[in-house]
Amino acid sequence: MKTSSPTPIHIIGGGLAGSEAAWQIARQGIPVILHEMRGVRETEAHKTDGLAELVCSNSFRSDDAISNAVGVLHAEMRQANSLIMMAADKNQVPAGGALAVDRDGFSQAVTAFIEAEPLITVTREEITGLPPEDWDQAIIATGPLTAPGLAAAIQAETGSDALAFFDAIAPIVHTDSIDMDICWFQSRYDKVGPGGTGKDYINCPMDEAQYGAFIDALIAGDKGGFKEWEGTPYFDGCLPIEVMAERGRETLRHGPMKPMGLTNAHNPTVKAYAVVQLRQDNALGTLYNMVGFQTKLKYGAQAGIFRMIPGLQNAEFARLGGLHRNTYINSPILLDRSLTLKSRPGLRFAGQITGCEGYVESASIGLLAGRFAAAERKGESLILPPDTSAFGALLNHITGGHIVSDDEPGKRSFQPMNINFGLFPPLEPGSIQKPEGMKRFRGKDKTVIKKQMTAERALRDCAAWLESLDRT
Ligand SMILES: Cc1cc2nc3c(=O)[nH]c(=O)nc-3n(C[C@H](O)[C@H](O)[C@H](O)COP(=O)(O)OP(=O)(O)OC[C@H]3O[C@@H](n4cnc5c(N)ncnc54)[C@H](O)[C@@H]3O)c2cc1C
Repeated sequence: MKTSSPTPIHIIGGGLAGSEAAWQIARQGIPVILHEMRGVRETEAHKTDGLAELVCSNSFRSDDAISNAVGVLHAEMRQANSLIMMAADKNQVPAGGALAVDRDGFSQAVTAFIEAEPLITVTREEITGLPPEDWDQAIIATGPLTAPGLAAAIQAETGSDALAFFDAIAPIVHTDSIDMDICWFQSRYDKVGPGGTGKDYINCPMDEAQYGAFIDALIAGDKGGFKEWEGTPYFDGCLPIEVMAERGRETLRHGPMKPMGLTNAHNPTVKAYAVVQLRQDNALGTLYNMVGFQTKLKYGAQAGIFRMIPGLQNAEFARLGGLHRNTYINSPILLDRSLTLKSRPGLRFAGQITGCEGYVESASIGLLAGRFAAAERKGESLILPPDTSAFGALLNHITGGHIVSDDEPGKRSFQPMNINFGLFPPLEPGSIQKPEGMKRFRGKDKTVIKKQMTAERALRDCAAWLESLDRT
């Protein structure tokens, strides 16, 4: 008796995410049609028609799976037989602790693997609308430079404010690096609001001299070239802080740094001249974002300037601020945990368009979307990666871990994010023990041990998750 082969799953976009998703689906014995427009239509940044082309740096960042979150993600992807990691490892060039690749060799390897896979068909065409009805399962992985026709169709399906075309990002700080002997929790005028407590913000006080020095540093800070996306518009209420500082020395004190309605819990009789506020950024409470501090200062300049803020002198940044051309959807609202668009069963999103950032993160979300789609096609129940793994932590950020703020109606607060330890659930209380032989066990040592334990837990839990998939 002849058995019919499964219906193919369609993937739009043959970048980092789409190529990885196609590979993962084919590994499950399911055919894929991969639609890539390059070769027919170019993007503003790609230079070739190779699959998984790296548009800028040739680095996959740290390969340290013991104390770096992206290194942990590398290791989990290797555990999951990632095509992107296999091609990267085969094309590695020397780069210290980082995994850097020969960009042409890497893209050629991905293209060769995909083209040699009998279950994958690559078609070179631009898809200009949402997948037609007869594609019962599809993945959109068209990245930060999604072609305008498809972007318009996504916007029509999801709503006008659900798709962003650039990101104006305020820096995000690891909560445990904020000095609470200087800062205090309080909402302006102690307002409780719909979902708050009256103590929802961390406040950093500045006196007049500190404020003056901070404004000087912002104005003098290295803005760098902004050639790439010079046409990027500034929106009202979203001006970079250094632009505000240049408009007038008091502008910030009447804007995001206004001290009104706040009383310094450590020094109630002295009114702060200015206050920097940070708001909880993820459900775990491990990350706080600097409210209104979107910036296009160069990365190298940002940490030094922001550490001038009292209470942030030792701040560790989960991400620095930025202003980039980027197309991404409001995933926490639009997608379910399996990356499926809630309004269209069978349609998944993957890669940077979901609100992760970076080559490795995009590929890893492609890997998950591919596995979820294959499980659905095979009628298997969906087993999600544990939140304690890097896969799970990133998926959680995209599909639910982010806190949507109630106090800025109309503003979307979900911002793209690289993987970082702040996205992982904290370790069990009391589980961090002083290593034998260590005399003093202080903040920095503790942070190192905490990262190592988080990384070990992630790799162990990821391996168990993958084993459970193999058993189904
Ligand atoms: C200018 C720039 C510089 C960057 N620099 C870095 C960096 O240095 N390091 C880093 O980690 N990340 C960088 N990024 C982010 C980077 O783009 C992502 O990390 C990664 O490429 C995203 O993978 P993806 O698969 O989601 O998208 P992509 O890799 O961009 O793949 C999307 C694919 O979809 C195709 N496509 C788009 N629309 C359609 C359509 N309608 N029909 C068919 N095909 C379509 C595109 O041609 C492309 O091949 C940069 C982004 C930009 C825009």
